[in-house]
Amino acid sequence: MNYVLPPSPIVSLAIQGTDQRFPVRRVYCVGRNYVEHAVEMGFTGREPPFFFLKPADAVLPAAAGAAVDAAYPTLTKNYHHEVELVVAIHKGGKNISAADAPSHIFGYAVGLDMTRRDLQGECKKQGRPWEIGKAVDQSAPIGPITPKTVCGEITSGAIELTVNGKTTQKSDIVKLIWNINEVIEHLSAAWELQPGDIIMTGTPEGVAAVVTGDTMVATCAGLETLTARVV
Ligand code: MN
Repeated sequence: MNYVLPPSPIVSLAIQGTDQRFPVRRVYCVGRNYVEHAVEMGFTGREPPFFFLKPADAVLPAAAGAAVDAAYPTLTKNYHHEVELVVAIHKGGKNISAADAPSHIFGYAVGLDMTRRDLQGECKKQGRPWEIGKAVDQSAPIGPITPKTVCGEITSGAIELTVNGKTTQKSDIVKLIWNINEVIEHLSAAWELQPGDIIMTGTPEGVAAVVTGDTMVATCAGLETLTARVV
């Protein structure tokens, strides 16, 4: 191909136990998918799932056992952590039923949906799109993927984030308002999923601001730990 510019590099995630990589196409994110997080954001009840996206190049892949450095972004005074279970899709499709969803899942990882909360809040107030709050450069540190063939289907398990050794978020995947299979059903009704898509499934309560110098350690359901430093 005769490109006028060199094409952007493909973003990819490490895979536990192999030197193969998982190429990332799109990053879908689920909003308010734990009751107590919805409450802390000022909402109640089980609303239909809703989605937003981050650009693939917002992903900051971590190698097994290594920390990643995530730059503190411009324009914000309230940069929040959101620890999330990440689902990696290896088989695409549209209108996938919840019952068929597991066969589309390649594996799982732990990720952070970092958010310029002050700018997101302003967007909500003004009825504007969220990109400036959510689609932030380096806002999606993600650990190595554990293949489903290794860990089995994940439907429960502790999810936790510590900042400088202190627990700030702690819940269980079983508390997802819309479970992973239901998320895939809803998502694939709106977009045709493709191999390489990843889904950030939502964050539990306890979201809070970080500052430069903080170290976040994210764990979920026995998956590879993600360590991210704010620099
Ligand atoms: Mn989130």
